[in-house]
Amino acid sequence: MLKRSLAVLSIGGLAWAAGAAGTTAEHGQRPCVIQYVANAGVMFETDGTRFLIDAPIREGIQPYATPTARQRHAVETAQPPFDKVSAVLITHWHEDHLSAEATAAQLRSSSATVLVSSREIVDRVQRAGPDLAPARFVALTPAPGESQRTLVGGVPVHLLRLRHTGRRLPEQHVGFLIEGCRTVLHVGDADTDAENFALLRALPPVEVGVLPFWYVLDEPGRTFVRTSIRPSRIIGMHLPPAEAADVSRKLSSVADVTLLTEPDQRVVLAR
Ligand SMILES: [Zn+2]
Repeated sequence: MLKRSLAVLSIGGLAWAAGAAGTTAEHGQRPCVIQYVANAGVMFETDGTRFLIDAPIREGIQPYATPTARQRHAVETAQPPFDKVSAVLITHWHEDHLSAEATAAQLRSSSATVLVSSREIVDRVQRAGPDLAPARFVALTPAPGESQRTLVGGVPVHLLRLRHTGRRLPEQHVGFLIEGCRTVLHVGDADTDAENFALLRALPPVEVGVLPFWYVLDEPGRTFVRTSIRPSRIIGMHLPPAEAADVSRKLSSVADVTLLTEPDQRVVLAR
């Protein structure tokens, strides 16, 4: 079933006004950038609206990357470069994607930020931050295979209920499709299965796919991405630091793939 439920919630009143953070233009343009934090954690900045996705983590899970002490401090105290964040988006509760305590700390430090995620994640962060006002949380849990839409600072954000890969399955796992300066898809740990991504057919085309690096390691994987997700550009995440050199070598000849390997690495998205 591709039926897509629609929940339009305007939470722009809580978000930073678009353009308020738009003073860091690169190449004479307003920001359209993905900045790496660690593992699946990135910040997507679109015309001054900033989304922090799967970035407030602490110990993580070995062998995956964790934020440096400086990054962790900047995320949790909402200091540059991770200040003026409009929304924190979390795909699922696994420790390499979420620290509920770090997320609550971020929300406490940044009064204009909201958390947008599934009910399962919102419950966990509210338990870690019972002092935080209910208005700071937007819980959306589409049925499996369906999506729901909200607005953050005027930017449409679709939550996609995608099935998690492998073992130790979380109850609720979502991806995010953000219609910003480029339409960016972050899939978390979604399973590489065509049926899992069938819901994309009813949504705006993906321009930039932020995907686990294993999606594109071999030709069958790349064929899956080309046919089921169809991004014009791929940003590979979730890469263990110890494997970075080897994977970079393997993918050096694959066009349109940029691997996230260095803390604070910035990928400027062409308009
Ligand atoms: Zn996971």
